[in-house]
Amino acid sequence: MGRVSFLECTGTGEKSSADELQGLSKAGKPFFARYDLDSLAGHFTPEAVRRREADLWRYDEVLPVQTPGGRISLGEGWTPLLPVSRLGERVGLPRLLIKDEGQNPTGSFKARGMAVAVARALELGARELALPSAGNAGSAAAAYGAAAGVPVRVVLPEDTPSPILEEIRALGGDVILVDGLITDCGRLVREGAEENGWWDLSTLKEPYRVEGKKTLGYELFEQLGGSLPDWIVYPTGGGTGLIGMWKAFHEMEALGWIGSERPGMVAVQASGCAPAVRAWEAGEDRFSPWPDARTYASGIRVPQAVGDFLILEALRESGGAAVAVPEAEIYQWASVTGQETGIFPAPEGGAVVAALPRLLEMGVVEADDQVVAFNTGSGLKYVGMEPQV
Ligand SMILES: *Cc1c(COP(=O)(O)O)cnc(C)c1O
Repeated sequence: MGRVSFLECTGTGEKSSADELQGLSKAGKPFFARYDLDSLAGHFTPEAVRRREADLWRYDEVLPVQTPGGRISLGEGWTPLLPVSRLGERVGLPRLLIKDEGQNPTGSFKARGMAVAVARALELGARELALPSAGNAGSAAAAYGAAAGVPVRVVLPEDTPSPILEEIRALGGDVILVDGLITDCGRLVREGAEENGWWDLSTLKEPYRVEGKKTLGYELFEQLGGSLPDWIVYPTGGGTGLIGMWKAFHEMEALGWIGSERPGMVAVQASGCAPAVRAWEAGEDRFSPWPDARTYASGIRVPQAVGDFLILEALRESGGAAVAVPEAEIYQWASVTGQETGIFPAPEGGAVVAALPRLLEMGVVEADDQVVAFNTGSGLKYVGMEPQV
C-alpha cells in the first residue's frame, strides 16, 4: 500500500513504515516521506504535468495521499508568481518577482501544508486533529478539518489577533487560548494527544505538512518556464517551506527535471526573534532558543524550531544566507510593497522585501540576479496589529 515507499529519519536515516500515523522519529527528529523516484522518472515529467489542474494536486505522484477521493481541496496552490519591476527598481533588483501566497485559501501558504497533512492523517485513521498555532496554521487546519468534517482543536497564545480567532471559530475550529508563547501551546497539544488521542499537526512533528509545502519548489520551476531563480528569499519561522523546497529540488534532480543547480536560499527573520540568523552567523548546526521573542510578524515569531538543522543545511548547501530585519523596516517595506505592486502583504512578506536592500549591500545578491521574494500571507489577516518596536 502507499505511494510513499517509507519514512526516513532526517537525523539518523532510520527507515520506518509510511502506512501508519507517525510523529517524530525515535531520535526525536522529523521524518521525510520517500518515494520511488527512479520508477517515476520518465513518467512524472514537466510535460506530463503541464495541462493538469491549477492546484498543488497536480504533483500527485510525489504526494502521499492515495485513497481515491481522499484529497481535500479548497483551491490551494498554483498562486501567481508576479514580476514586480517598480518595487524591484526601488530595492535595486529589477528582475524581482513575488510569489503571492496570500492568495491561498484562508489567506496564507499554511493551506498547502494543511491540505496534504489533514488528508493524509484522515486516510491513516486520525479522527480528531490538534495543533499549536500563531494563527495562520490554525485557520488553515480548521478549514481543511471543516471541509473533511472532522474536529480540529487549535491552541493559540492569548494575544493572537481577534480576527484570526474569529476566523477559526467561523470555520468550526475549537479555539483554546493559553497565557504564553507558541511553545507553551505545543506542550498542551502534546498532553491532549496523549490523553485524548488528538492527532498532533505541529510543524514538522508529522511528516506531511512539509510535503504540501514542497510543491512550492515544483511550482516555481514550472512558472519560470522550466528553470529555477538565482535566489529564494523566505520568511523563516519553523522553516517548513524552505525545507520543503529544498527537498523538492533533490527530488526534481532525481526525477531528471533539473541538474545539480540550486537557487541560493535566504532565511529572513525579525530582529526581535532571529534564532536562525544567530546560529547562521555563529556557524552552528542548531539554534539556541530565543528568549523574549518579539515581532508582529507572528508567523516568524518562532523561538525554537525542530527542523533547525535542516534549515541551516539548506542555507549552507545552497550558498545562501540568513538576515534579520528591524521591526520598523518590516512595517515600512510592507507599505511600500502595497503601493508599488498592488499586493497587500503580510508583515512576513514585508520582512522579506526589507531584507532585499540589505542582501545587496552585503554583496550576497547582485543587481541583475533573478530573485523570488515570498509573500506568505495576506495583509488583511493582520489589520489592527502594531509593530512591536
Ligand atoms: C507560518 C508562517 C511563516 C513561517 O513559515 P515556516 O515555513 O514555518 O517557516 C511565514 N509567514 C506566514 C504568513 C506564516 O503564516
